[in-house]
Amino acid sequence: MAESQVTAELVRLVEVGPRDGLQAEPNIVPTATKLELIMRLSESGLPVIEATSFVHPDRVPQLADAAELMERLEPQGGTRYPVLVPNLRGLERAVAAGAEELAVFTAATESFSQRNTNCSIDESLDRIKDVVTEARSRGLPVRAYISCVLGCPYEGEVPVSAVADVAKRLFDIGCGEISLGDTIGVGTPGAARMMFEAVASEVAMGQLAVHFHDTYGQALANILACMECGVRCIDASVAGLGGCPFAPGASGNVATEDVVYMLHGLGFATGVNLRKLALTGRWISGHLSRPNMSRAGAALLNTKTQ
Ligand code: MG
Repeated sequence: MAESQVTAELVRLVEVGPRDGLQAEPNIVPTATKLELIMRLSESGLPVIEATSFVHPDRVPQLADAAELMERLEPQGGTRYPVLVPNLRGLERAVAAGAEELAVFTAATESFSQRNTNCSIDESLDRIKDVVTEARSRGLPVRAYISCVLGCPYEGEVPVSAVADVAKRLFDIGCGEISLGDTIGVGTPGAARMMFEAVASEVAMGQLAVHFHDTYGQALANILACMECGVRCIDASVAGLGGCPFAPGASGNVATEDVVYMLHGLGFATGVNLRKLALTGRWISGHLSRPNMSRAGAALLNTKTQ
């Protein structure tokens, strides 16, 4: 070898399109389409794909096929497929269907917790503790989501101390990874940095992830601000699936293609084949009859076909 090569630092992507993205779609997506989406995402090289959710089907009818989907899912080597569970009952259903990794959720504000999960933050942490205890006894890792880390639709601004407190409690319970979600996408990079630094003073950096929505076009800037603070795990959704692009104020997840394009440009490794991912984004957007919300994905494919 003529010259020494520096190995690029790895950033771990958590693809949330099949769960966080699809759950907002108004028309029921066939299980076969979901499975093909997960397969295509796996083949693009994504290391972690959140496959579905075992919340009660009445709450999320789109994901009522969770058990069937997990039973039919053919895992690709090297890809992990966590699933969301609300409580112990969800854990039991998920494990029975073959899930080997779990995700749980709470919020940084009482109002959002009450409206989203019908319980206080304390009560949600009690439920999470039960899930984590049971999961650990079975050797299953658990990631936790915190909603509303940079703003709440009911309470407005959220103190960073509230986010840090919930994150610390999740860490102490034993959640292996804690994902900080700007659920309504209102954050800007300065606020994201302050929030992330407050959390990182309480929780080990290697156990933190960020989850941004692009409602105000700030997602990539916010991700970069948090990366400058040290985070190396990023949630994203292929084609920006999530929310409804036709509803005012609806908040889509940051598009995975856009994140990958930025990361590769910065010299980070992701293991993802961006072209395969972009084709997957275009494919699922067509299936859902929705615009492809990934700017990088659309630009990449347009360029290649000219
Ligand atoms: Mg989201």
